Amino acid sequence: MQQAVEQWAGGGHRVIHVSRLSDWIGRATVRCEPRDRYGRTVASCFKGAEDLNRWMVANGWAVAHRKYSLDYVADEERAHRARLPLPRVDLLKANHYMFGSMQISRGCPFTCEFCDIIVTFGRRPRVKTSEQVLAELESFRRIGLKIIFVVDDNLIGNKKAIKPILRDIIRWQQERAYPLTLFTEASLDLAEDEELMELMGLANFQSVFIGIETPNEDSLRETKKFQNVRPNAGTLVERVHRVQQHGIDVWCGMIVGFDHDDPSIFDVMPKFLAEARVSAALIGMLHAIPTTPLYDRLEKAGRLNDDEASDRYGTNVIPLGHVT
Ligand code: SF4
Repeated sequence: MQQAVEQWAGGGHRVIHVSRLSDWIGRATVRCEPRDRYGRTVASCFKGAEDLNRWMVANGWAVAHRKYSLDYVADEERAHRARLPLPRVDLLKANHYMFGSMQISRGCPFTCEFCDIIVTFGRRPRVKTSEQVLAELESFRRIGLKIIFVVDDNLIGNKKAIKPILRDIIRWQQERAYPLTLFTEASLDLAEDEELMELMGLANFQSVFIGIETPNEDSLRETKKFQNVRPNAGTLVERVHRVQQHGIDVWCGMIVGFDHDDPSIFDVMPKFLAEARVSAALIGMLHAIPTTPLYDRLEKAGRLNDDEASDRYGTNVIPLGHVT
């Protein structure tokens, strides 16, 4: 039995192939020899699913990203937001900090090919309770901080769950005459939910970082950022303006170097940013992070630079048509 498992899970696999492994866990001691996110081989023995999950959580694994549904195998073992203790914010020397940081949720439901967040935190958002959130805000207020970065990779990954929390934040802010200014990160489908934008504005989110990535729709489809290409939701510019109309400043992340980009992207992108009135844009070259589907695709195609070439060109991605 062990031999059969090794045949499925061992050797050169970058991630444990849980789809097949799950046939075995719970019934047998499983020995895997996957590679970790840095390419090192790690050998471990697991007794059943619980043991495997514990190991994965301890080692920052997110289970096979090729099989997102299997993400949930380990999800139950991941730190559940509602069980986290209140951080000891009171220990901070507030005058050393420009802003405080807190997290309300983890996980994002989308499928962006380059993203390691969904690999690390999973695609099922887990959200803290209102009581936890308000207690954290209160502890920041008590030490005298006035700006809080809600560090969630996508605050609105679970819209249904975040709305009541936002309503409670609004009430808390209003009862104290708005002591805190908030900023966060969210996906662009925020622009498709009037109520959500209004709640965020009223909760005093003054800016939101959105992964727009590119105005090139072919590139968005290429990278599986389908939530940014929704014809019925309006153009990208219209959607950004809609968020701004709720008093929320939009910052954004942009990427150049997709297979569907050509040199015209260097004209199109600044034009888009100006038209969308984006006040701050973080622009980078496409980079394939180990563990992501992008990394796997490019590795299979022989399109990843070695370390030296990555340093020289500033990216580990070899452009389409340049593989030697
Ligand atoms: S929306 Fe953001 S967090 Fe979610 S998968 Fe895409 S890049 Fe990752």
